[in-house]
Amino acid sequence: MQVFSSVTELRSYLAARRSDARRSEKKTIGLVPTMGALHEGHLALIEASRQTNDITGCSIFVNPIQFNNQEDLAKYPRTLEQDCALLDRAGCDFVFAPSADDMYPKAPSLVLNFGPLESVMEGAFRPGHFNGVGIVVARLFNIVHPDRAYFGQKDLQQVAVVRQLVEDLAFQLEVVPCPTLREADGLALSSRNRRLSPEERALAPQLYQVLTEAKERLLRGERVAEAKQFVQDYLAAIPAFRLEYFEVVHSVTMQPLEAVKPGHTALCIAAYLGPVRLIDNVVF
Ligand code: AMP
Repeated sequence: MQVFSSVTELRSYLAARRSDARRSEKKTIGLVPTMGALHEGHLALIEASRQTNDITGCSIFVNPIQFNNQEDLAKYPRTLEQDCALLDRAGCDFVFAPSADDMYPKAPSLVLNFGPLESVMEGAFRPGHFNGVGIVVARLFNIVHPDRAYFGQKDLQQVAVVRQLVEDLAFQLEVVPCPTLREADGLALSSRNRRLSPEERALAPQLYQVLTEAKERLLRGERVAEAKQFVQDYLAAIPAFRLEYFEVVHSVTMQPLEAVKPGHTALCIAAYLGPVRLIDNVVF
């Protein structure tokens, strides 16, 4: 496995692998963009890419311009050496781990606006977040030119935003969404989980628990407003949690639903558990 921090070096490596490929049949590249502190959820994306592509790459970059909270950025776990060992074992072919200066020699002046897709949930509570995501993902696509890019459904709204980016800017690649990996107790794997205290970690599965119960209530015919009230009351009873939002939305458009839409209903939640902000969702 080769590790790059420089865009120029990565580009010449990819050019060489591509010219190799020209002698035989065309080789495909799968890219898994991450912010590092890797866990099994990330490795499942690597595995999905390996199953379909000749070459799999992982980018590791804690993208400062997608953080609207400086403390979250400062405390974001950084474990590059361990990440590279995991990726090597997982059969990843290359890692792109640029510094902020490698990634942004100049601060980007372009501003992206995803319209209604970002007026809700993560976009509403984290102003500028999807602008930062869109810019870094577009830069990665232009640096690597992958045939496929792999994203986790844990960040459902991000999948919608990246699809919009690819469509609007005519990137020639396929966006491949992958299911959320969970701990045995239901907690969605997340790099931020390692910031939870043992007490918070013990409470964390309640987030998935409340989503599951809300889903069951909606499937039994409970109204959206009642399900929302149920979720608010449930988490209010656990003082360590502070609910930021719980929304019932269309799983593609991200727009609020007034009633369940079979196959396209997403329940999305964001809550602070102590100092750590967690998100999760279920789609049915
Ligand atoms: P991050 O490093 O948190 O930016 O995540 C990088 C990619 O991994 C994103 O596409 C995430 O949606 C995905 N991801 C994060 N957690 C999980 C999980 N538990 N299961 C599947 N994919 C995940």
